[in-house]
Amino acid sequence: MENRFGPEYASLDDAAFIPKYRAACFCGTVRYEVSADPVDAKICHCLACQKLHGAPMQWAAIFHKRHVRLTAGFNHLHFFNSEQGRYERILPCKVSCRRCGAPIADEGRRMWLAFPTLFNFEHRTEVPDSFKPTCHIFYGMRVVDLWDDLPKWSGHKDHSTRL
Ligand SMILES: [Zn+2]
Ligand SMILES: [Zn+2]
Repeated sequence: MENRFGPEYASLDDAAFIPKYRAACFCGTVRYEVSADPVDAKICHCLACQKLHGAPMQWAAIFHKRHVRLTAGFNHLHFFNSEQGRYERILPCKVSCRRCGAPIADEGRRMWLAFPTLFNFEHRTEVPDSFKPTCHIFYGMRVVDLWDDLPKWSGHKDHSTRL
């Protein structure tokens, strides 16, 4: 089957792809699978994430694109490049469901930044360790103080001041 999401992603007819976790938007129109654990997970407090998610912060788990495949809803995806203000699939861009409006992921140039709350983990309240955030980024822009032991960076991880 053709992979309309792009050759850098896993294809639907790849027999070696064994889904490890499944994700879906709120209405279920958009669905995808991943075959591996995320390489990292972060919580971002930047203003763009606050506004685009209507939330105080964004939790993202980072995957290689080759470990991701879209299984439903390709024609219902909405893309938005927030840097250029263009409603197109210009990477990096925001990916959301055109029907329910749920944010699906941030599609980077090389990585797929998934939102773990879309995943149907076997036990809803038990988030796998690999999805647990390892740090807070853009914590200098926070609207909520957090009291966990994770490193808190003023901007990007390893490229800003630790707060
Ligand atoms: Zn939806
Ligand atoms: Zn952000």
